[in-house]
Amino acid sequence: MEMEMEMETRDLKVELLCLGAHVSGLEQGRRAGAGPAAGGMFVFGNTVANVPTQSWFVAQSPYRLDREDERYVLKKDGERITEVHFPTTKFQELKTKDGIPYYKIALLHGMDCLATTTIQTCVYWNTPLRCKFCAIELSLNSGATIAKKTPEQLAEVARAAKELDHVTHVTLTTGTTATPDKGINHLANVASAIKEATGLPIHVQFEPPEEFSIIDKLADAVDTVGIHVESFDKRVLKEITPSKAGIPLQRFEEAWKRSVELFGESQVSSFVIAGLGESDESIIEGSTLLAELGVYPFIVPLRPIPGSLLEKERPPSPDRMRHLYEIVADILHDTGVSWKNCKAGCVRCRACSALADFE
Ligand code: SF4
Repeated sequence: MEMEMEMETRDLKVELLCLGAHVSGLEQGRRAGAGPAAGGMFVFGNTVANVPTQSWFVAQSPYRLDREDERYVLKKDGERITEVHFPTTKFQELKTKDGIPYYKIALLHGMDCLATTTIQTCVYWNTPLRCKFCAIELSLNSGATIAKKTPEQLAEVARAAKELDHVTHVTLTTGTTATPDKGINHLANVASAIKEATGLPIHVQFEPPEEFSIIDKLADAVDTVGIHVESFDKRVLKEITPSKAGIPLQRFEEAWKRSVELFGESQVSSFVIAGLGESDESIIEGSTLLAELGVYPFIVPLRPIPGSLLEKERPPSPDRMRHLYEIVADILHDTGVSWKNCKAGCVRCRACSALADFE
C-alpha cells in the first residue's frame, strides 16, 4: 500500500491557500462549476479550501493534483499527501425559463454554501478608486455571469440548490452602487425572496452605508452580515482600496456594533487580508478589536486574481499565516467569538480562511 505523507489538515490547508496547486490536464473537458475548474474547492480531511489553480505562482507550487481512475490525489513534490474531493451539484446544470443557466446566477461555494454577487458592477470599477485585489467586472465581461440578478431568479436557483444539492446556507455580496444605500436595498429584496422560498440562513456583505437604519431593514430576512475593512493599516488601505480608505475606522466600528446588536455575536464578520504590506501587529491588533466587539476576523491570505490589478503579487508565506492564525485563534478563544456559532456565510463556509481550522 502506498504511504501517505503525514501532515496536519490545518497546515495543509494553509499551504494550499498560500501556494496553490497545479491541476493542469484535469481541467480539459470540464465545464465551469464542476471540479477543479470551478475555482478549486478542495475538500479533504474534515475541511474545505478555496485553492488558487490559475495564478502565476501556482507554477512554483510543490503541490499537484493527479487523477487516478475516479479519484483525485494531492501530491507534494511527487509524494502522496491525501485524496481530494470536489463537491458537484445538480442545480448548476439547470436553466431558468428564459434560458439563463443557473450557474450564471449563483454557484456552490465550499461544501454547501450557495453564493452570488447580486450586482456584478461597481461604481469604483473604471475609476482610480477601484480595489486593487478585486475582479468583480471581469467575470461579467467574460460572460460567466449576468450584471444584476433579480430576487425571483435567485429564489428559483436557491430552491433548486436546497432541494437537489442540500445547500444549507447562502452568501450574497454586491458591487458598491452609486446610491447612498450602497446596494443594500437590492440585497434586502433578494434575501427576502430567498428566505421565503427556502428558509435557509442568509449572509450578506456590504460597505458601511450612509444611514445605519438601512441595516435594520435587513434584519427580517438576513442572519449574518459581513462589513469588510480589509486592512487596519491606513497606508495600505490608501494604496489598495482607496474607496475604503475614505471611510474612517470609526464608521466601521459603529456599523459593526450596530450589526452585533441586531444579529448577535459571531454573526458579524470582516475580511482582513494578509499580504498587502501590513505588519503582523496590524492584523493581530485589528483582530483583537474585532473580536472584542463580537465580530469575527475572517483573515485570508491575499489572493492575486488573474486580471486584477494585483495579479502579479504573491500571497504571504504559509509560515506567516500559520503564525497569525495561531495567535488570533487564541484571541477568539478568550472572547468566545467562534466560527462554530456562525449561522451563514464565509465564516461558516471557511473555504477562504484557515482561522476556523486553528480554533
Ligand atoms: S469563504 Fe466566502 S468567498 Fe470563500 S468560498 Fe466560502 S462563501 Fe465563497
